[in-house]
Amino acid sequence: SDTIFGRIAAGEIPADIVYQDDDLVAFWDLSPQAPTHILIIPRKPIATLNQLEDGDAELAGRLLLAAARVAKQVGIADAGYRVVVNCNAAGGQTVFHLHLHLLGGRPMGWPPG
Ligand code: AMP
Repeated sequence: SDTIFGRIAAGEIPADIVYQDDDLVAFWDLSPQAPTHILIIPRKPIATLNQLEDGDAELAGRLLLAAARVAKQVGIADAGYRVVVNCNAAGGQTVFHLHLHLLGGRPMGWPPG
């Protein structure tokens, strides 16, 4: 919980929040890699995808549903978008509080870097 995202979830530091509920917060990435780049985090401090447990199955589903909801909210749903989870060093994770990247507003290359 002692990460920058834990502090955003707790309201201790500001973020440009686009959606939040009892379980999740979605906010704009400070260093956007696409015209739309939003992060979706659980309020629960789960460090990486590796720490997700069976008991988190509903929460994991809510994270995905929130990504789709926010994509509609910001107008990228029909054009298309990408949802990314980086895990640990080789996956490019830098903040150790689980988060989904919602990326859109431009075509996405494949394979990703
Ligand atoms: P990752 O590399 O997958 O851990 O992603 C971390 C993301 O958090 C990066 O895209 C950063 O630009 C973003 N980031 C870091 N600090 C903040 C912050 N205070 N507010 C919004 N986004 C942030």
